[in-house]
Amino acid sequence: MSDASVIASQRVQDELVAAIGAQHIAAGEEIGERYRVDIIGKYRTAPAFLAKPATTGEVAALVRIAAAHGLPITTVGGQTGTCGGAVAQDGGIALSLERMNRIAEIDTTSMTLTVEAGCILQIAQEAVEEQGAFLPLDLGSRGSAMIGGCIAANSGGNRVLRWGMMRDMVVGLEVVLADGSIVSSLTKMIKDNAGYHWKELMIGSEGTLGVVTKAVLRLRPNPLTNQTALVALPSFDMVTRLLRDLEVRLSGQLSSFEVMWGAFFELISTAQLAQRPRPMALGHPFYVLVERLGGDPLVDGEQFERVLADQIEAGVILDAVIAKSEKERAALWAVREELRGAFDPLQPCSVYDVSMGLIDMPQFVTRVERNLEAAFPGAKLFFYGHAGDGNLHLVVSVGKERTGDGSQIDRIVYETVQTVNGSIAAEHGIGMSRLPFIGLTRSEAELALMARLKQALDPHGLLNPGKVVAL
Ligand SMILES: Cc1cc2nc3c(=O)[nH]c(=O)nc-3n(C[C@H](O)[C@H](O)[C@H](O)COP(=O)(O)OP(=O)(O)OC[C@H]3O[C@@H](n4cnc5c(N)ncnc54)[C@H](O)[C@@H]3O)c2cc1C
Repeated sequence: MSDASVIASQRVQDELVAAIGAQHIAAGEEIGERYRVDIIGKYRTAPAFLAKPATTGEVAALVRIAAAHGLPITTVGGQTGTCGGAVAQDGGIALSLERMNRIAEIDTTSMTLTVEAGCILQIAQEAVEEQGAFLPLDLGSRGSAMIGGCIAANSGGNRVLRWGMMRDMVVGLEVVLADGSIVSSLTKMIKDNAGYHWKELMIGSEGTLGVVTKAVLRLRPNPLTNQTALVALPSFDMVTRLLRDLEVRLSGQLSSFEVMWGAFFELISTAQLAQRPRPMALGHPFYVLVERLGGDPLVDGEQFERVLADQIEAGVILDAVIAKSEKERAALWAVREELRGAFDPLQPCSVYDVSMGLIDMPQFVTRVERNLEAAFPGAKLFFYGHAGDGNLHLVVSVGKERTGDGSQIDRIVYETVQTVNGSIAAEHGIGMSRLPFIGLTRSEAELALMARLKQALDPHGLLNPGKVVAL
């Protein structure tokens, strides 16, 4: 570093310290490992500063300092995003909202939660439940993902089928824009057609248009019952038939419909044998984890069993296991959610999160299997996902054939997604890793519009540069 840049860097540090206090600023080597590497270990970075503000005013002051010095600033949430979205730039500022984790209000009359962006999702869920209400957003990463990260990523998860994505739960929002100004609309209205819905623009923008500091989320009454079952099916046609039958027969209370292809179920349930018995025999083409959250303890359980029995009689379901306790329910969910370790023997793996019309899903699976087999003979593919929403996760292992960062595999998968007019990013966003492929899923006109929006709100490109929009 030249003398001039050492002096400039010291000046920035002095200003950051003056804004939020020395104990909340780390510089260079003092910055902990977890702010230097992303969750999938693909990206390493060396931010110049890590700042942990405690209030929206402090966030605004930090953004103004970044703007004054032309320094890139990246908001870091729970860092559970899988596409490198929260990776700060080398020499830039990593902004962690972990101290902004307060729950301001749970209003069980308006059914809203007012919360700071750094609050962990699970903590918010539990606090709301204690008040007899329900925050439907639920992800496997609930113990680490933050509310602000979920808004910035427009998270989906296990209950989108019934309650929608994060976008459907945000009624009020507060953000800090790239010039350090604060825009706050912490209202509780579901209906509000007074002009442009600027909040919608912020949701899912992955920290590239503003820093989310606070939100008002819509709550629901707490369900009184839950019924969870693992069922086996002979074909994808039966999977879609079951989905529609359950939506009708459970009167709109079907909350999760998680599909696992046979190879995925075999891999995960085998890897978990040391912790729990396999919940169902191997050998079926499809397994679906079904959950209904209901409101009538007297009839829900019995009715759920009857509906599944009818499906068995009709030949839609081949086998079913219904959870009889919370422990059994957790064991069924574990096959879908506790994936760590199972893929270790197959590393390096490439992981995808794509979506398409449900009608196109079998065709996509056949095509991507064929295309990957042609390029990487013997490639192993594992399909699963929130298929009730047309969302498919795919893990690919080509063993030692994988070179570099696996972008050849990415291209094959994403070009196949394009053939069914699908999306290369169903719920985990674009971040850095999918940016080279965004043109396979968005038209030139859409990309140009996105670039204009980015330029209008962040003309100097300081908010999370290199993510979502290529400028
Ligand atoms: C095991 C596992 C399961 C998962 N399951 C799901 C799932 O079912 N559905 C789903 O949608 N995702 C899922 N994810 C992905 C991830 O958990 C979500 O995208 C989550 O919302 C990210 O939240 P975070 O706080 O970890 O954000 P981060 O990963 O820290 O950040 C994500 C992006 O948001 C930006 N950002 C973070 N906070 C803010 C803020 N306050 N203001 C502005 N920008 C911000 C970051 O810069 C980055 O671009 C899963 C991940 C894992 C590891």
